[in-house]
Amino acid sequence: MMFRYDLDAVAATIRERGYKRVALELPEGLRDRAADIVDEVSSKTGCEVFVSCDPCYGACDINDDALAALGCEAIFHFGHTRILARTKVPVHYVEVHIPWDVADLLGKGEHLLDEKVGLATTAQHLHRLEEVKKYLEERGHRVYIGKVKGVLKPGQVLGCSFATARAVKDKVDVYAYIGGGNFHPLGIALATGKKTLAFDPETGTVRDMEEIRDRVLRQRFARIAKARGARKFGVVVGLKKGQRRLGLALRLREKLRKRGMKAYLLALREVVPDNLYPFRKLDALVSTACPRVAIDDAGRFPIPILTPEELDIALGERDWVEYVFDEMPWSASHHQEESR
Ligand code: SF4
Repeated sequence: MMFRYDLDAVAATIRERGYKRVALELPEGLRDRAADIVDEVSSKTGCEVFVSCDPCYGACDINDDALAALGCEAIFHFGHTRILARTKVPVHYVEVHIPWDVADLLGKGEHLLDEKVGLATTAQHLHRLEEVKKYLEERGHRVYIGKVKGVLKPGQVLGCSFATARAVKDKVDVYAYIGGGNFHPLGIALATGKKTLAFDPETGTVRDMEEIRDRVLRQRFARIAKARGARKFGVVVGLKKGQRRLGLALRLREKLRKRGMKAYLLALREVVPDNLYPFRKLDALVSTACPRVAIDDAGRFPIPILTPEELDIALGERDWVEYVFDEMPWSASHHQEESR
């Protein structure tokens, strides 16, 4: 795939700020180009460049403390936009784009859209959103791009926040999501309950999310049902800076204890089945880390793993028809990550 990113701008920032040692955080798809990126940046600046190789799935996961300990004066984080307000060293966000043609892609599914369309996308395609809006408006659609306070740009969604989509929910019949994969459009469909079509510039295809949303909801119902009657819970606390919801975890533990249940606080960076396997004798887990762990990786965990809202259903405090998708409060405030 052809990626576009501006290494001249990276080099200019390094020279302007006088950095002598920096680190790069690259999304998976760019890592096999890491050596070329390092060569170009260091030859243009003379700066020492580290590549952070730990998994990094989002801008919630800036490895600033560890990289600062190596003497890195700044981090260049590719492919995401800023969501963390405070970091140990400055973080510069580098846009990553791929070329695609609006008319080609939208032409494949414009006829499947109803009149009133909500647009949503990720950081990678935000700069094309107005062009998409114009294309659809010229074909008679009324197009809405949701705006919210906080760190999200108009129309931008994260895997853990669909606040911009929800902001226009009452005005639209359908969402058109622009971007690759099912991860984000599935989230829109789950968080809004509305018809969602994914226009994928990477594959040139258009997909309706209805079938996968229904499948995921059935799986969630089965997991919640399995967790009913659980007595021993693990309350998962994410150690990644933007995934830390300690206040929520403590409230959940308290709630479980008050019901006479056992609740253990399990703190970890990577919330993956292998790391939690030793706790398989607990009855269930509830995750306050990345909201998508419970949804997208559920089948890989040996015991049910629920979101906080799903725990309420399992405990009988919320009805299944009130099911809501767990989201991070990025739309509420730029400065909330320490107090969640
Ligand atoms: S919390 Fe999860 S969904 Fe949200 S940005 Fe981080 S990795 Fe992505």
